[in-house]
Amino acid sequence: MNADVIVIGAGAAGLAAARALAKCSVRVALVEARDRSGGRIYTRTIDSIAAPVELGAEFIHGAAPETLALLRETGGTAVEMGDESWICAGGSLRREVRDFTEAAKLFEAAAELPRDVSVDDYLKPFAADPSTRAEAALARAFVEGFDAADPAIASARGIAEEWESGSDVTSSRPSGTYAPIVAHLHGDCLARGVSMLFSAAVQRIKWKRGEVSVDAHPATLRAGAAVVTLPAGVLRRRDVVFDPGLPHEKYAALECIEMGDVTKVAMAFRVPFWEDLERGTYRDAAIFRCENGPFGAYWTQFPQRNRLVYAWAGGPSATALAALSEADRVAAAVRGFGALFNEEDLALGELIDAVTHDWRADPYARGAYSYLRVGAHDARARLADSLDDTVFFAGEATSADGQGGTVNGAIQTGERAALEVLQCRF
Ligand SMILES: Cc1cc2nc3c(=O)[nH]c(=O)nc-3n(C[C@H](O)[C@H](O)[C@H](O)COP(=O)(O)OP(=O)(O)OC[C@H]3O[C@@H](n4cnc5c(N)ncnc54)[C@H](O)[C@@H]3O)c2cc1C
Repeated sequence: MNADVIVIGAGAAGLAAARALAKCSVRVALVEARDRSGGRIYTRTIDSIAAPVELGAEFIHGAAPETLALLRETGGTAVEMGDESWICAGGSLRREVRDFTEAAKLFEAAAELPRDVSVDDYLKPFAADPSTRAEAALARAFVEGFDAADPAIASARGIAEEWESGSDVTSSRPSGTYAPIVAHLHGDCLARGVSMLFSAAVQRIKWKRGEVSVDAHPATLRAGAAVVTLPAGVLRRRDVVFDPGLPHEKYAALECIEMGDVTKVAMAFRVPFWEDLERGTYRDAAIFRCENGPFGAYWTQFPQRNRLVYAWAGGPSATALAALSEADRVAAAVRGFGALFNEEDLALGELIDAVTHDWRADPYARGAYSYLRVGAHDARARLADSLDDTVFFAGEATSADGQGGTVNGAIQTGERAALEVLQCRF
């Protein structure tokens, strides 16, 4: 198959790149290992309740203009999250009074550090000071929970930059899940003549200036350029062979970009039983955080009222959960949710179904999303650098403006790589 440009990967970045190129009448071939588009946006239907659940991306973080523009194109809207938050500490639930902004304030100074340090080292003095101890604990919980990062190796500067960009502020969800956005991008690519090849894992990318040949068994595709949107975890493991190999700087950048672990379990209950407990105390609860226990947070779909709850573990606790069987992970999630209210048996009895996805074991993801190691400096920008105006890079891990690890970051990088191709080659 011949094209002007081959786009590798049909996640948010690949779809956005292919669409932007096709809009400019470039002949695009898009090749994807899975049998679906979306990548780490993965909306699945729980058959027993006929409801869609998000096993990957669910929220719109920060301003996210590209995502919101796509959402408008689908006729959808962004639904604000509820803000009633509870924390389980010392065995009982109480209303959470601190929020993300207080934790983020601690990291403001980290952006100016003369020498980067780990999150653990950065937080030590704050944790030792009684006046900031609680904020330090909250900041650490956010680094683990929402950046999916290990505080022992995560870059304090990297966290400061991402938090400053606002990309960690969780504000809304797309009405009707992310599925319509993926379907819209996919449909637009097809309508603009992009040839799409699914269930075709790329094994080798052979390239020289102005020529690329991609082996994706059983097809071989040829073009003048390629946009590679493979996740950083896949690139790091060298699962796809570059011929000639990637330059040393690219692998040095990849060594500084870690893939964080997340365990997310979608649980469907017969009825939203938590709404009736304690005379309706938790009726409008949006999120329950847990200081102890394998899952750091549970959230409802409030303000939408339904019977779905997600259990979430990020960073080291997700890595530990990965050692369990899927059935044990699900059981831990259900018990943990019930334990918030001292109602484990009720939660187990009310459960209809639960689904999860092991992103670390997934050969086409190799982790949930990226974060920076101590000393990473400009690793994301280095990963984004193109090779000889021929091989271009996109994907969330190449987002250098603080939106790494997000859908909006991925879309932006796809559009950025398409522009680079157009400027260099057309
Ligand atoms: C559990 C979880 C929760 C998340 N929650 C949120 C959230 O709430 N909000 C948010 O903004 N972000 C969230 N994210 C992150 C977000 O999903 C990603 O940042 C974004 O979807 C990445 O898009 P991408 O195009 O860069 O990568 P991907 O979506 O991973 O796309 C890369 C594509 O390359 C394909 N591929 C891999 N190897 C090969 C190969 N050898 N040959 C061909 N194709 C290959 C993959 O199958 C994939 O389709 C979450 C992620 C996870 C895992």
